Amino acid sequence: MVKAVVGANWGDEGKGKITDMLAREANIIVRFQGGANAGHTIINNYGKFALHTLPSGVFYNHTTSIIGNGVALDIPVLFKEVRSIVDRGVPEPRILVSDRAQIVMSYHKNFDAYEEERLGGKSFGSTKSGIAPFYSDKYAKVGFQVSELFDDELLKEKTVRVAQQKNVLLEHLYHKPLINPEDLYKELKEYKEMIEPFVCDTSLFLYNAVKEGKNILLEGQLGSLKDPDHGIYPMVTSSSTLAGYGAVGSGIPPYEIRQIITVCKAYSSAVGAGAFVSEIFGEEADKLRNRGGDGGEFGATTGRPRRMGWFDCVASKYGCRLQGTTDVAFTVLDVLGYLEEIPVCVGYEIDGEVTTEFPPTYLLEKAKPVLEVLPGWKCDISGIREYEKLPENCRGYIEFIEEKIGYPITMVSNGPGRDDIIYRKK
Ligand code: GDP
Repeated sequence: MVKAVVGANWGDEGKGKITDMLAREANIIVRFQGGANAGHTIINNYGKFALHTLPSGVFYNHTTSIIGNGVALDIPVLFKEVRSIVDRGVPEPRILVSDRAQIVMSYHKNFDAYEEERLGGKSFGSTKSGIAPFYSDKYAKVGFQVSELFDDELLKEKTVRVAQQKNVLLEHLYHKPLINPEDLYKELKEYKEMIEPFVCDTSLFLYNAVKEGKNILLEGQLGSLKDPDHGIYPMVTSSSTLAGYGAVGSGIPPYEIRQIITVCKAYSSAVGAGAFVSEIFGEEADKLRNRGGDGGEFGATTGRPRRMGWFDCVASKYGCRLQGTTDVAFTVLDVLGYLEEIPVCVGYEIDGEVTTEFPPTYLLEKAKPVLEVLPGWKCDISGIREYEKLPENCRGYIEFIEEKIGYPITMVSNGPGRDDIIYRKK
């Protein structure tokens, strides 16, 4: 049985926690897109961890972690991450890396930083992990696939060709130091040595696992609204964040994905630039930011403060629809316990008209939130394990949102830990 855990919004919904929790029952956890540009924060019996590249199932010794072909593979980051968890007592994880994944090169990170610098005030707020230059190269067919590390002749020829092309930009657009093909070749040889023991045909491995009835989790990064096709283009990420891409980015048939668990946070947060209709500011935002997540809403990769907002039914309904949601995991609800009243964005007003359908970016920029205010529950709900034991106003909030987004909320997360979860019978 294959399940996907994906985000409905702008990322940071708590997918890491939900994946870590569901991984208890899983055999294999697969990352299928993105790279080390976003982080998952996970709190379990080993402590608190920020993962960027490893799937969130690495904390169990019964799981296999797969870096799928769709991932932007940053080999030094992967190794650093493995070391950092093993050093803290987590059993040595079993990791497989797709021979068809492509490699984030050091120049991708440089180009990312140079381009942000060039754009100045119009920058994307990139984490400078090289993701956009990486995926551009992949689709321009000048990237390095892991399998190519094993073809020395090809590497020698390709490093010259790639350096030639990159150096035009480095010299004339960015005015930065040029790339020496021999350094590139050396970099790739080092990567080969590091990664070789883990490389295999992961799609074949997964194909056999599906046939054997293994439980497989596909773990998405970021959320629907950062998808390059369906998100807030151009303020998006460079690989598809949708469950549908889980099939492509891991190499399994799309019809094998039976359950799509879309993680939706009980309020909104976003990083980077781009329209954010239900955004709040000043003291109101600070209060939520400092209480949010676990230890505040600050980026797991960058540490920068996240932008905050009220729950957005328009964006979340759209986000759930694009994922093909079968179940919503509604997270970080405990954080809202301090509020007397909780505004919820139920529509967008654009040029005097109210809509509940998420528009393309040029209209989104003009949208004003239509808010409905719900009563708060003014207490701490952490520790509660049964839905009926939640305060009435809290259930009211969940059911109001469920009705507005139109997808069943089957899990409610009321704390960062593995056991902080309420399963709701539907
Ligand atoms: P991801 O990228 O979607 O995995 O999300 P992040 O890890 O960036 O952000 C989620 C944050 O919320 C992390 O710090 C989690 O530990 C925390 N978290 C997840 N679920 C809950 C919850 O139900 N309650 C609280 N208080 N924190 C949570």
